[in-house]
Amino acid sequence: MTPKKRIALIAHDARKMDLLEWVDRNKSVLEKHDLCGTGTTGGLIAEKCGLDVKRYKSGPLGGDQQIGALISNMGLDIMIFFWDPMAAQPHDVDVKALLRMSVLYNVAVACNRASADFLISSPLLQREYNAEIKDYSMYIPKPI
Ligand code: PGA
Repeated sequence: MTPKKRIALIAHDARKMDLLEWVDRNKSVLEKHDLCGTGTTGGLIAEKCGLDVKRYKSGPLGGDQQIGALISNMGLDIMIFFWDPMAAQPHDVDVKALLRMSVLYNVAVACNRASADFLISSPLLQREYNAEIKDYSMYIPKPI
């Protein structure tokens, strides 16, 4: 990871205001990094906070899957994902897959404000960092 991090910003509907407020508060730090997000979240951040955000599809239309694919191609360092703990989503399976990819590829993840605060204030954010990826090859069955 270079000092300029690749950061995804995602929030479910009931958490979008929380994320927007957090992003606005941390705008001066976030604008130094490459930002992306799911469609609606990314659009709101661009509009309300004036940040440059690469937008993928809306979450329920495949945006979470796109960000999962980005992770599996080593294209993301940090994910701030304010998911809603009080409501089932039509794309719950995609959310689960996205969270799984982030663990598998050792992406730094914050799913609530306190974690996001710790992440954004980490000295590692401005430095090179080697996020080692565990070797899972022993899980892949060998052809007989
Ligand atoms: P949205 O998607 O930003 O398009 O609302 C978020 C999500 O549900 O993953």
